[in-house]
Amino acid sequence: MIWGIFLKGGINMAIKTTCKRCGKMFVSTDLTKICMDCKEVDRKSFYIVKEYLYGHSGATIGEVNRDTGVSVADIERMIEDGKISRMKKE
Ligand SMILES: [Zn+2]
Repeated sequence: MIWGIFLKGGINMAIKTTCKRCGKMFVSTDLTKICMDCKEVDRKSFYIVKEYLYGHSGATIGEVNRDTGVSVADIERMIEDGKISRMKKE
């Protein structure tokens, strides 16, 4: 269930939604789909994955998962969000 709260003017908007990552209910103020806790985990995970990919460009999701410990779902979400991109292995 998703429902919205709107302030007069519609500029400051808070939407109560379910976190896409942990399933917890939270209030999103910037239309993000994940809660603050997960955002922090995501930020750290992305940093780890980014560092890893510097040295292992073209690694598969499985390899990144195995070597960094970042979950496959998290890596796939980074791709979905456009933070990292898939490419064909040569
Ligand atoms: Zn969450």
